[in-house]
Amino acid sequence: MHDLDPSEFRRLARRVADWNADYLERVEEFPVLSGVSPGSVLAKLPDFPPEIGRELDELLQEFERVIVPALTHWAHPGFFGYFPAAGSAAGALGEMIAAVLNSNAMVWRSSPAGTELELVATGWLGRLLGLTEGIGVINDTASSSTMYALAAARARAYPEAEEAGLFGARPGRVYASEEAHSSVEKAARVAGLGKPVRIATRSDLGMSTDALHHAMDRDLACGTKPLAVVATLGTTSTAAMDPIGEIAEIAEEHGAWLHVDAAYGGVAAMLPELHSYFRGWERADSVVVNPHKWLFTPMDCSVLFCRRPVELARAFSIRPEYLNAPEPERRGGVRERAAADGPADLMDYGLSLGRRFRALKLWLVLNSFGRAGLVAALRSHIAMCRRLEDWIDAEADWERVASSPLATTAFRWRGGDRDNLRILAHVNGSGRAFVIHTLVGGRVALRAAVGNVRTRPEHVEELWRLLKEGAELVSHHQNSCEALHGAEAKP
Ligand code: PLP
Repeated sequence: MHDLDPSEFRRLARRVADWNADYLERVEEFPVLSGVSPGSVLAKLPDFPPEIGRELDELLQEFERVIVPALTHWAHPGFFGYFPAAGSAAGALGEMIAAVLNSNAMVWRSSPAGTELELVATGWLGRLLGLTEGIGVINDTASSSTMYALAAARARAYPEAEEAGLFGARPGRVYASEEAHSSVEKAARVAGLGKPVRIATRSDLGMSTDALHHAMDRDLACGTKPLAVVATLGTTSTAAMDPIGEIAEIAEEHGAWLHVDAAYGGVAAMLPELHSYFRGWERADSVVVNPHKWLFTPMDCSVLFCRRPVELARAFSIRPEYLNAPEPERRGGVRERAAADGPADLMDYGLSLGRRFRALKLWLVLNSFGRAGLVAALRSHIAMCRRLEDWIDAEADWERVASSPLATTAFRWRGGDRDNLRILAHVNGSGRAFVIHTLVGGRVALRAAVGNVRTRPEHVEELWRLLKEGAELVSHHQNSCEALHGAEAKP
């Protein structure tokens, strides 16, 4: 058994390249949200793999027939759900090459280019965002990045835990707002730090610094160590911005590690008009920004910036002999290398040993858009979102439930929760757009995030048309029910 010969690979790769280009050309012909029932793919595929290998040509046909109908199309310009994972052609090309190279940047010598390009690409991104100290490493997701940040916070606060674990240690506490993403709680749980204290929010849904101060002082008075604060810039529900400058001061005052979850919002720091929202974030010990959310880089690409690489490495560096390089110049311990500016072994900064060559796609994206191109794309998304908000504000039957400077908006129709969910079902059932719902103040709100590189004003107009159409249907239904009940009530 051997792999395809290069000429056969070339033929199939061209076929796949054509398929990819055709897909992007006709992506709007697909319903954004797949309409299949659960189990549809499972039912069409056998329980066992084939005994004899099959032809890739035939498999590509099967892919079209079985897999494609069960896709939700994140590349569709009408995708306004979650935070769009906004890929781009440059990013996809980077993924394709990385898959063929299949290199693994666990230590410098296992992929010198992979290691150093990661330092270059994250360094560039950091400079665009005003985060210039320490190291940037690429992880799969913000959930991992936040977990690594909390592990570093633990390593700093409890150096003895490396050997002894946290058993018998003085209790410590993590703080995050009520609006913080569930990944913060998951990360704290995995790091053995317990459930974070949820800090109340202000009316703009950013963290209340009075409440943070109060909670930390109360814990200190009881002998509990304020270990880490996780602030969010761009919350999941409404893209709210925590007051990061004030939070940085409070964290410093209490000796707590400050981690910023800017998985979605962080890229907006490259817009001068939004600098006021980010002022102070450069003082954070760590920051996570996901280029796979809003920087046109395909899944997965989450950058963890850490001002304290030595502490991050303290949490994660374990070096079995086989990973040490025998060459004299590579003999230094990781801590010295992390402290110095030279190329490091990336395995020392996170849980995984093996590391995909994610830097290639990020580097291609940063190069091919250029700073001006990225800024223009982000601004266009924000402008489209503001336009949608203007339409909402102009209608008496609709209201916005939060405001954010980013390209995400949350709103509701005047009816109840069920009415809003019916409107949502109408929009998503159309196949032309996809939005999700959230809870704001305990009530259902609809939520749209504009972040796809292919989204144009006409797609947002279409979304608004569908929302209004859904509301008319619900309203019509309400009127018919009232008429029916009115008629029944008559003698
Ligand atoms: N942080 C925020 C603010 C998010 O909105 C999300 C997901 O949407 C995450 C973290 C988790 O991101 P990931 O899927 O990269 O783990």
